[in-house]
Amino acid sequence: MAEQPQGAASVPEDVQSNVLLTTVDWIYNTGRTFSLWPMSFGLACCAIEFIVTGTARYDLSRFGMEVIRPSPRQCDLLIISGTVTKKMVVPIVRLYNQMAEPRYVISMGACATGGGPFKEGYNVVSGIDKYLPVDVYVPGCPPTPEALLHGFISLQQKIRKQSVRTVPWYRKEYSSLVPMPVLGPDIFSSDPAAMRQVREINMQRMMAARTAGQLTIAELRHLSADECVTVRNSGLAQDMTGWRLISGRGDQTYTFPAGFVLMPDAEVHVHSGPLAQATTTSDQIWTKQHMWRNEGDTASLVDADGNVISSFTYQGS
Ligand code: SF4
Repeated sequence: MAEQPQGAASVPEDVQSNVLLTTVDWIYNTGRTFSLWPMSFGLACCAIEFIVTGTARYDLSRFGMEVIRPSPRQCDLLIISGTVTKKMVVPIVRLYNQMAEPRYVISMGACATGGGPFKEGYNVVSGIDKYLPVDVYVPGCPPTPEALLHGFISLQQKIRKQSVRTVPWYRKEYSSLVPMPVLGPDIFSSDPAAMRQVREINMQRMMAARTAGQLTIAELRHLSADECVTVRNSGLAQDMTGWRLISGRGDQTYTFPAGFVLMPDAEVHVHSGPLAQATTTSDQIWTKQHMWRNEGDTASLVDADGNVISSFTYQGS
């Protein structure tokens, strides 16, 4: 295996040929990356290019994707290849809901992505991503088989960056069912709450596709009556929904707001104390009580799964 997993520990030289150290994420991602099974499903002219991609000339077996299955129960990759009509979007969402997690969607061609030449047509939806979470978009009308292969490779790269710690489908509160669109006189009159839910699932999956951020409590200080914890992200973007800051002494908890994302190399300051105030847009107010006044007081940063990511003990000033 040519690729060296990040964070691999060193192995004594005399046993190096017998021992392979890697991470759970690396094994998990490698398994999924090279065994994606697409559904044999097509909607219009783009489907012809998808069929051609499956021929010997393009050799899908290289990617472990040649097992194209006719049942959604056996697939984990849905390729939306062609024009999505308002009548057809309902069975498409039903098929997606019948696939097991983890599952992925490629939007192939201009029609699937935005309506294409039929955009604003009376019977065509202007983008499948209003109804399903899309992982990769392949442009073109139609995209060539080479473009679709590039889409497959992009999806593989995305999967390789995922982590079992952050993927949404192992979270208790995650519901993988996408709301069914309602086919009426105009499909866009369907339930706005359902549309919002699709957007939220999209966002959750997008954040999970990024490598987990590396968050640490960089500083715990107090200036007169304002006490402040600085959390710094030295990794990639991190969705902090459900993350908490816990005061070790008082067992008081601050929960980060839903949708709060800490960008790479950014900081968030969480203030407490009677005079606590937010001075910048990245500042958060915890409480108007003193949290850390004494030497030995501790702050702990806990992720959405309850793992303690970082702790900091106040040493006094
Ligand atoms: S994007 Fe072009 S080739 Fe693909 S389904 Fe639409 S019209 Fe046909």
